[in-house]
Amino acid sequence: MAFEGLADRLQGTIAKIRGKGKVTESDVKEMMREVRLALLEADVNFKVVKDFIKKVSERAVGQEVMKSLTPGQQVIKVVKEELTELMGGEQSQIVVSTRPPTVIMMVGLQGAGKTTTTGKLANLLRKKYNRNPLLVAADIYRPAAIKQLETLGKQLNMPVFSLGDEVSPVEIAEQAIEQAKKEHHDYVLIDTAGRLHIDEHLMDELKQVKEVANPDEIFLVVDAMTGQDAVNVAQSFQDQLGLTGVILTKLDGDTRGGAALSIRAVTGTPIKFAGMGEKLDALEPFHPERMASRILGMGDVLTLIEKAQASVDQEKAKELEEKMRTMSFTFDDFLEQLGQVRKMGPLDELISMLPGANKIKGLKNIQVDEKQISHVEAIIRSMTKEEKRHPEIINASRKKRIAKGSGTSVQEVNRLLKQFEDMKKMMKQMTNMTKGKRKGFKFP
Ligand code: GDP
Repeated sequence: MAFEGLADRLQGTIAKIRGKGKVTESDVKEMMREVRLALLEADVNFKVVKDFIKKVSERAVGQEVMKSLTPGQQVIKVVKEELTELMGGEQSQIVVSTRPPTVIMMVGLQGAGKTTTTGKLANLLRKKYNRNPLLVAADIYRPAAIKQLETLGKQLNMPVFSLGDEVSPVEIAEQAIEQAKKEHHDYVLIDTAGRLHIDEHLMDELKQVKEVANPDEIFLVVDAMTGQDAVNVAQSFQDQLGLTGVILTKLDGDTRGGAALSIRAVTGTPIKFAGMGEKLDALEPFHPERMASRILGMGDVLTLIEKAQASVDQEKAKELEEKMRTMSFTFDDFLEQLGQVRKMGPLDELISMLPGANKIKGLKNIQVDEKQISHVEAIIRSMTKEEKRHPEIINASRKKRIAKGSGTSVQEVNRLLKQFEDMKKMMKQMTNMTKGKRKGFKFP
C-alpha cells in the first residue's frame, strides 16, 4: 500500500511527542532528525525535505507550540499543516470553460496510465459532475492505444472520436473539437501521443496540438511508482509545454510516496487526481489535507464517507434498517450487504482510511483475503431459498451439500453460520438499546 513505510516511521516519531506536556528545542530537533530520515527514505526530493524541516522546526519551537497547553499535539498539528501545504494546500478544482466544450489534453509517457486515466476521468466527470465528455484517440504511436480507448468507450458507453493512426494528432484534435461542438459535448478529453522518453518530436507535436486545441487543462499523467523520475518528467513537461495539473497513477501500489510529496513543491504544478487501481472507477480527486491525514495515521474518514455515499443505495439502506429492526434479516440481505461494501473498493484500501488503522495490532497485518469473501458468497449462493431465510434448518447433511456445492468445507459453512448467528444477536441488542432509549426519552 502507498506510503506504508513513511506512515509507519512518521507515526512512530509523532507517538513519542504526542503526550508531552513540555516540548523542548532538543525534543523538536530529535523529532526533526527522524522526520528528515523518513522523508528521504520515502524518496522525497532532498531540497523539498530541507525546506520542509526548516519550516516545521521554526514553527515548532515558536510561540504557537511552546505556549500551548498541549505542545506535543501542537507539533503534530504543525507537521500535518506543512505536509498539506507541501502537497498543494487546498484541493484544486477542475477548470470549467465559460465557452464549452472544456478541452483537456492528457499527456504523459508510455505506460504511465494515460489512456486508462483518460477513461477514468471521463467516467468521473459523468458520474460526479453529470458531464457529457467526448473521448479523443490521438495516441497514434503506441500500438493498440486507439483500440484501448475505443474499448474503454464501449465499457463506459461513451463516444470515442478516432481517425485511425494515419492522420496527425493535430488534425484529429481539430476535427474532434468541431464534432464535440456539433454534438454538444461539454468536455473533450484528448488522449495524446505518448513516447517511451521525452524527446523533441514528442514535445513539438504536443505543442502543435496545444496550439490548435487551446486546452483549458493540460494534465500530465505520471506513475507514482517511479518516484523521483516522475518528478523529473513533470518538471520537463512543465518547462516545455506548461501544465495545469498532474494526475498521479498507481498510488494503490507499493509506492514510497516521494512523487506525491515532491511534485507540487518542485514543479509548482498541483496534483489534481490520484489513480488508485486499474478499474474505471479507481480515480479520486486529490485532497492534500486528507492525504496528509492518511500519512500521519489520522485516517481519511471523509473519503470513506464519500465512497459509502456514492455506492450505497439509500433506498436499500432504509430497507435494511427496517429489516434489522424487525429481525427479518436473512442471508440474502447479508449477501447484498457484502456486495455493497465491495463496491466501495478493495477492503485493505478501505481499512487504511480508518484513523489509527496501522496502529491497531493485527489490523495492519491483516491480509484482507478477498478469496475468503468469495467463499462466503459461494456458500450463501449454495443455500436454498428456505435455508437462507431460516438457517436453523441447516442440519449436518445440508451442511455437507452446501460445502460441496460451494467448493468449501463443512468447517467454513459452520463458521459462517456462527458469524451470522452472532451478528443477529448483536443486532438484537442494538435494537433493544435504541428501543430502550426511545422509551426513556422525554421531551423537555
Ligand atoms: P499509457 O501507455 O500511458 O496509455 O498506459 P495505459 O493506460 O495503457 O496503462 C498502463 C498500465 O497501467 C495498464 O495495465 C493499466 O491498467 C495500469 N494502470 C493505470 N492506472 C493505474 C492505477 O492507478 N493503478 C494501477 N494499479 N494500475 C494502473
